[in-house]
Parts: sequence; C-alpha cells; structure tokens
Amino acid sequence: MKLKEIGEDAVVEAITRELRFDGRVEVGPGDDCALVRFGQNLQLLKTDCVVEGVHFLLETSARAVGWKALCRAISDIAAMGGDPLDAVITVAISPDRELAWLTDLYAGLNQAAANYGVNLVGGETSRSPGPVFISVALTGKVEKERLVVRSGGKIGDRLYVTGRLGGSLRGKHLSFEPRLAESRWLTENFRLHAMIDLSDGLGSDLPRLAKASGTGFEIDFSALPKNEGCSVEQALADGEDYELLFAVSDDVGAKLEQDWKKAFPELPLTRIGRLTEQKGDLLSKPGYDHFQ
Ligand SMILES: [Mg+2]
Repeated sequence: MKLKEIGEDAVVEAITRELRFDGRVEVGPGDDCALVRFGQNLQLLKTDCVVEGVHFLLETSARAVGWKALCRAISDIAAMGGDPLDAVITVAISPDRELAWLTDLYAGLNQAAANYGVNLVGGETSRSPGPVFISVALTGKVEKERLVVRSGGKIGDRLYVTGRLGGSLRGKHLSFEPRLAESRWLTENFRLHAMIDLSDGLGSDLPRLAKASGTGFEIDFSALPKNEGCSVEQALADGEDYELLFAVSDDVGAKLEQDWKKAFPELPLTRIGRLTEQKGDLLSKPGYDHFQ
C-alpha cells in the first residue's frame, strides 16, 4: 500500500503503533510535542522539518526559511503551554549550493532563537542528493499545572482561535510569530482544557483535537476570523496559520475574552464554536495532508 493511499494520520498511526515506553513518558506520539519526566521536571521534546519544494521554494530567502524552521517547532512547544529551551539543527544540502545560502539560513535561525529565548546548541550537516532538508529538534519545559494536551477537551467547551486564518501562502507562512507569549499568558491565568497549534489548517487540526478529546465539534462558520480576501474554505484548508486553537469551559469564556483584550489589544481572539457530544465529520473540506 502506498502512503498517498492512506493519508498522513494513518501513516503516523501505523509507524507509532508498536512503540513501547517506560514510565517516564507522560505524553507519547499524537500530540504537538512529547512530554517526558526528567527528575522533578517535565521536559517537552519536539522535532520538525522543512523541505525545499514542500515548505519553501528554491527562490525563497534562506533567512526566512531559517526563521520558519525554528518557529514551527516553537509553535508546537507553545501549543502545550510550555517554554522552549535548546535546539539542535540538521541540514542536508547539495554541495553545489553557495555558502551564503547556509549562513543566511543560520541568520534566520539565530534571529528566531534570540526572539524566543532558544539556545542553538549544535547540529549536523550532510550532503543531499536533491532538495535542501532542514530538521529542528527542540526541547522545552512546562510546569505541571500549565501543561495543556489535545485530549483534555470536554463536551460543552468553548473553542477559540487566536489571530486570523487562511491565505498563509501569500507570505505569512515564512514570517509568522509563534504565539508563545499568548500561550504562556493563557496558561498562567486560565485552566485550558485542550490546545493545538494550527499547522495543517483548522479543517484538519480541529478534528484532531476533538478526536483526542473523545468529543465532536460545532463551528460557527460565519464567525471564523479570516485573513483579508480569504474564503471560509481557505480559512479551513490553507494551513500554516500557526495560530492557537484551544478549548475552555463555558463559564470562564467571558472573563477570558475580556482579559485578553487588555493583554493583547492588537491580536484578535475569536470564539468559533464548541465541543459537542455528537461525533462525526462536520467539515466538508479537510486541511493539508502531507501524503495526499
Ligand atoms: Mg502542532
């Protein structure tokens, strides 16, 4: 069977089914990051890659590629309520490339690292027979009481998204700002039930959160915060928004909305629906699938 016949989620399920862990592993595959106990601490582990021709093009500025590569991983740490710490970077690249491309890539990585308090502590380089491949492995820490996983959503929870959705390919996917400060503020002030960052589009990522939580969901399509010129369909399916989607109990929603406006006056926070008992696919169009 070919990967494209079964799709990304089923592929991941097939390769992670047989994995066995010892008692230190709190969260294994299937969330935004893994979570392992390390002494008294909870450590987040994330790996992520960007590939030429998939996540960026030959003509994309190498500096922007570096920014994007690290910020994608930071966004996943934020999705668990955590704080990023240290990263190692692997680059596979053709020997025919200019050194300047690589130094520009590292300028972008460095800039993101400086902005979000990450140490770039090492890496690996290899020859690539084809496209450039960049892999980022990132650690993070999270306080037990601030940890948010995908599976904690409850029936009746309100669903919120930060920012605006859709149209990321026009440029935002290379220059987005991971919602780290917003996540840390949310987990400091409110008990979130579930959270995910929107990398593949609300149409893919919301069903993942609901499935992990064992609930269904309902969306108010007219409420979706769309980027200028985007349709509802684009807001659901374009992907690479890197906004946060989270679930909170109905009774804290009003205060959260009010406090958010004071804390982040420039960034919209939108109530887009709720988690329901009714399961089933309420979306006609899913988001991005890497293998389909
Ligand atoms: Mg994610």
